[in-house]
Amino acid sequence: MRRRIAVIGAGPAGLTFARVLHRHDHPVTVLERDPAPDARPPGGTLDLHEGLGQLALHKAGLLAEFQALSRPEGQAMRILDTDGTVLRDWRPRPDDRAHPEIDRGQLRDLLLGPLDVQWGRGVAEVVPDGGDGVLVRFADGRQETFDLVVGADGAWSRVRPAVSSATPHYTGVTSVETALDDVDARHPDLARLVGDGSVAVYGVNRALVAQRNSGGHVKVYAQFRAPVDWHANLDPADAEAVRSSLLALFDGWAAPVLELLRHGTAFVHRPLYVLPASHTWTHVPGVTLLGDAAHLMPPLGAGANLAMLDGAELAEAITTGPGDPDEAVRAFEQRMTARAGRWAKITMAGLERLVSPDPAEAVALFDEVQPS
Ligand SMILES: Cc1cc2nc3c(=O)[nH]c(=O)nc-3n(C[C@H](O)[C@H](O)[C@H](O)COP(=O)(O)OP(=O)(O)OC[C@H]3O[C@@H](n4cnc5c(N)ncnc54)[C@H](O)[C@@H]3O)c2cc1C
Repeated sequence: MRRRIAVIGAGPAGLTFARVLHRHDHPVTVLERDPAPDARPPGGTLDLHEGLGQLALHKAGLLAEFQALSRPEGQAMRILDTDGTVLRDWRPRPDDRAHPEIDRGQLRDLLLGPLDVQWGRGVAEVVPDGGDGVLVRFADGRQETFDLVVGADGAWSRVRPAVSSATPHYTGVTSVETALDDVDARHPDLARLVGDGSVAVYGVNRALVAQRNSGGHVKVYAQFRAPVDWHANLDPADAEAVRSSLLALFDGWAAPVLELLRHGTAFVHRPLYVLPASHTWTHVPGVTLLGDAAHLMPPLGAGANLAMLDGAELAEAITTGPGDPDEAVRAFEQRMTARAGRWAKITMAGLERLVSPDPAEAVALFDEVQPS
């Protein structure tokens, strides 16, 4: 008899998991808190690496469709000094497919495909030994049981407490996100500044990063070291007040760079939280975690990639692994946590260097990872 499997969360981890199970004709229940796929803005662009996110898409049978949608030119990266001097300007070769960019919304739709997601089903709690299997309690008071519950519900997972007492902690770095629309027509100077990919400016304990998405949309991230409550006296919905305080924080930076903040529309406050780099847990039969729920780390281009590979590998372990399915999950957890632990250390060290008292550290980091 087929096991009743539920995945909580329709982000990159949960959807990749469900899509690979679907490819292997294994039924899965996908439970998502958002009331609809487009209930909130999908977020910025993601670069998917050959050996991580792209490998996951290959396992889902979606690599060709990804290649048709993705933007290899988005791999371009320019670094400026705070006075606007160009320090580095990397352009990808025409055949470079190492980590092309894709809009999150496009990736979500690609993964969704034929999946039948149950929207508006926020999970409140998971009880591992819930009688006839693992009990899932929903926010609306309903409950259901499954043989395996996979927590792919992100940073503030409601499934995680069933296996681990770990909670995310603040890194000391906050990111405030804004965006510009129709940049080529409305802000041609900024369009040139950002180019086909990203532009990043590093100052003392501050960074400003702008990334081109498809359709002339540009996301801008102002990152800085600050107490988590730095905005306590600021109304986050008051865009002009947030803009003024950001302009004060980045005071003295080159005018064209600050134009990215001056023209940004709404501002979204994202303090950067992480789980401990070595987060593991004692295996609990019937419950496991994927993606940010298992290994939340700084947003340095790895999280979604790892989340997708986690999802694809767990689905393969369940459908093609020999013997006891619970043993397959346990072995998967060991592989996942070892890999995530390595990336958590890399991304945490990277964040220390990118938002650092010495801006030369940020440039040195890029010199180490960019192809020459
Ligand atoms: C600004 C920024 C830029 C980034 N850029 C990159 C990048 O370029 N490359 C990269 O690899 N990574 C990047 N990341 C990291 C990446 O976004 C995450 O690691 C990735 O989204 C994790 O996927 P996930 O599926 O585990 O979790 P999520 O994407 O958080 O998805 C979790 C899903 O679960 C749902 N959910 C939450 N709680 C419940 C509940 N109680 N019940 C039911 N459903 C629930 C949520 O609504 C959501 O749909 C970036 C992150 C940020 C913040």
